[in-house]
Amino acid sequence: MTKSKETGWNLDNSYARLPGLFFSSTNPTPVRSPKLVILNNKLAESLGLNVQALQSEDGAAVFAGNEIPEGASPLAQAYGGHQFGHFNMLGDGRAVLLSEQITPRDERVDIQLKGSGRTPYSRGGDGRAALGPMLREYIISEAMYALGIPTTRSLAVVTTGELVIRETKLPGAILTRVAASHLRVGTFQYVAQWGTARELRILADYALHRHFPEVEAGENQYLSLLQEVVKRQAELIAKWQLVGFIHGVMNTDNMTISGETIDYGPCAFMDTYDPATVFSSIDIQGRYAYGNQPVIGGWNLARFAEALLPLLHDDEEQAVELAQDKISDFTKLYHSNWVAGMRAKLGIFNEEAEDEALIKELLSVMKKHRADYTNTFRALTFDTLEDTALLGTPEFTEWHERWQTRLGRQQESKDSSNQLMRNSNPALIPRNHRVEEALEAAVEQGDYSVMERLLEMLSNPYAHSAEQAEYSTLPASTIPYRTFCGT
Ligand code: AMP
Ligand code: MG
Repeated sequence: MTKSKETGWNLDNSYARLPGLFFSSTNPTPVRSPKLVILNNKLAESLGLNVQALQSEDGAAVFAGNEIPEGASPLAQAYGGHQFGHFNMLGDGRAVLLSEQITPRDERVDIQLKGSGRTPYSRGGDGRAALGPMLREYIISEAMYALGIPTTRSLAVVTTGELVIRETKLPGAILTRVAASHLRVGTFQYVAQWGTARELRILADYALHRHFPEVEAGENQYLSLLQEVVKRQAELIAKWQLVGFIHGVMNTDNMTISGETIDYGPCAFMDTYDPATVFSSIDIQGRYAYGNQPVIGGWNLARFAEALLPLLHDDEEQAVELAQDKISDFTKLYHSNWVAGMRAKLGIFNEEAEDEALIKELLSVMKKHRADYTNTFRALTFDTLEDTALLGTPEFTEWHERWQTRLGRQQESKDSSNQLMRNSNPALIPRNHRVEEALEAAVEQGDYSVMERLLEMLSNPYAHSAEQAEYSTLPASTIPYRTFCGT
């Protein structure tokens, strides 16, 4: 028997009412001995869930997929996607959308179990996930949320009591992911490729209703859909760039319609500033390098526009023209978001034409001297430049003078300028060696205290507390960091 009343599940799966082409009804595959290892209490409460009830055996059973709460109708979503530029049929191969939770604020969010067993879209995969990568997604997604970057959230991780076979045998786990929705660019590509015009319209109407109700009834609402997604992705990717986040696998199936960051596989934060930075072991060509992310964002949105073409205009040529117009907006929107964010990082309130040159000059000096991205902005904020590789170099001295002169040309006080910088430059990011340390303690020793403390430090990145300082030091090792998809 389910105990929705106690746990607070308030489920309604609107996706299950969409055409059958869009998904396959699939239950999670039960696991041997579920154990809740981490629960996001604050997120649970905001969803209207009862933390105590979730911590019980029954609570863990839901996160493990061993019990289906009342009102859920689990399904695996179908989608396609361009992976490193090549189009493939994909779909949820190791995840099920349990249902949508209606929150106390009447918001509808997806509750998805990741690592919940095979589905009709699993192809050769085992449908499972290892503990390390699921905890990693938990840490990074929650860090992103705290940094103010739109993202899917992590509600809980359970270990399964089963092993998964990768290069070695690893403890299995399931992550409960919360998202505004799991609609992806790839969802539209899939329906455009294999569905009817009617089905494509249904999907677009669903996306409009769920994410952009303000334009749903407008004229050419499908063009508005494209425009809104372009806008959200431009804002999102600018935010990534401003904190040095590298997604690592910006395939079109990993780009949401809601504008949330999704799919924390090989992602990582950049230490030394270098646009060519790549962490992912499989990104040989650097397609998804830090400096390429805005270009790839635009490329992915062009694939979205292509999928929408039949809805934009009856005449194909005119549809293409309309789409191109919106896609070219992406570059402009991205750029203005990025420049605005950079101004804030430098404590600048008003706009001057030369600001961009000032910003670029700093970045070029940082690149030349291999300065740490996060710590340089923090050092500028707190005037602790002795901590950087830049102090004393003639280029930087000259730049610093220009910057100070520039700050003098605005009305706002030095104090408010400094406050703006404190709010725009995080004290810390999830440093790779800190994340690894937390994962190792959890996975190897079952000690979650290191991860809990890291999460606490990351939960308020703009606090600039004394305790956070030790989390901003650089790794001792100079070996380039490598990430893996964790599949
Ligand atoms: P991702 O790299 O996580 O975006 O995954 C790409 C595709 O591979 C998606 O369709 C996933 O569902 C699928 N996939 C990844 N890992 C597995 C696995 N272990 N078993 C089945 N499917 C998987
Ligand atoms: Mg994916």
